[in-house]
Amino acid sequence: MRGPQTTAIHAGEPNRHGVGGPVVTEIVRTSTFTFSSTEEMKNWAEGKSKAYIYTRYGNPTLSVAEGKIAALEGAEAAVVTSSGMAAISSALLSVLKQGDELISTAQLYGGSYRLMRDLFPNMGITTHRVGMDLAGIESLVTLRTKALYVETPTNPTLRLVDIEKAIAFAKKYKLIAIMDNTFATPVLQNPLAAGYDMVVHSATKALAGHSDLIAGVVAGSKHWMERVRHMVIYLGGSMDPGVAYLLIRGIKTLGVRVERQCKSAMAVAEFLEKHPKVACVHYPGLPSHPDHELAKKQMRGFGSMLAFDMKGGLPAARQFCDRVKLFLLAASLGGVESLVILPIYSSHYNMSEEELRSAGVSPGTVRVSIGLEDAEDLISDLKQALA
Ligand code: PLP
Repeated sequence: MRGPQTTAIHAGEPNRHGVGGPVVTEIVRTSTFTFSSTEEMKNWAEGKSKAYIYTRYGNPTLSVAEGKIAALEGAEAAVVTSSGMAAISSALLSVLKQGDELISTAQLYGGSYRLMRDLFPNMGITTHRVGMDLAGIESLVTLRTKALYVETPTNPTLRLVDIEKAIAFAKKYKLIAIMDNTFATPVLQNPLAAGYDMVVHSATKALAGHSDLIAGVVAGSKHWMERVRHMVIYLGGSMDPGVAYLLIRGIKTLGVRVERQCKSAMAVAEFLEKHPKVACVHYPGLPSHPDHELAKKQMRGFGSMLAFDMKGGLPAARQFCDRVKLFLLAASLGGVESLVILPIYSSHYNMSEEELRSAGVSPGTVRVSIGLEDAEDLISDLKQALA
């Protein structure tokens, strides 16, 4: 078994030894693929051939990205998609049909929450939500419950779900367990090893790592990936080969980026926690975080994301965000540039006060994505913006 950084660089790639071969993955920039005879096409149509036919169904560059992420997640297979939301919707719709029920947590990336709140009811799919400690989860199970969908750590307040507790519950009730592993990345935790059926990512974030593309991925068993691929073929959320190339390039440095970002995030969290204008810092690496012990147990590092609440509420949070000079005021996360954002104006827009309360988001919450700048420079910028 190779280390994660070696896996990120070499897994999924074709044999690159020999004379004159490229070291770097080629972009197979084509929408369609040739066949040499109608007999070969017939074989494909009858499911007897795995030949590439059309890029929405698969493409060699996409296959390299899929092989890399499958290896990093310890999965049999993976399916790359045009966005994280395409991965999430394709994974969920490969499991759920009209009349089915889903259990999820109240704290979730806003886009996933809104998919379950606004679209799934129109399709006859009902979502029940449980607190992050999963208290009372058994009372939500009915004969129609088919899946458990969780995210840990959560966007934006970095709360954790107990991975083992959640999977024990899913197994007991024979639910398909899906986890959004975007915030942790496969460098810090591998939910499939704990028994989850599928892992989804917004590959837009740390996997790609440079804030220059939109992408997603689902990883899991061959059985589930075949179903997910069919969903991507039906719904059309397939990846472009040029995006796959950039994703592959980004993944090759995932391990070193995450390691460095974890260190800087810890330094920033410790600085913010001591600052008189900051009411509370949400970072699982801090002993004050409610899930610190759980984070130590189930994660190999505490991640590149943190959030904090300003004592002065929304006006103070806005003033801070308007004053940063090195940090950029922008949505998204996991890139090399450090970013700040107000969740109420980004991931958690279009939510009632009650919904924000159960998501743990207050108007004065600032979310921070730590990039690759020098930690001292990031802290100086925070100092001046908070002064
Ligand atoms: N999951 C998480 C945790 C996210 O933060 C995001 C986006 O912010 C998504 C999923 C959606 O991914 P995408 O924007 O690539 O569709």
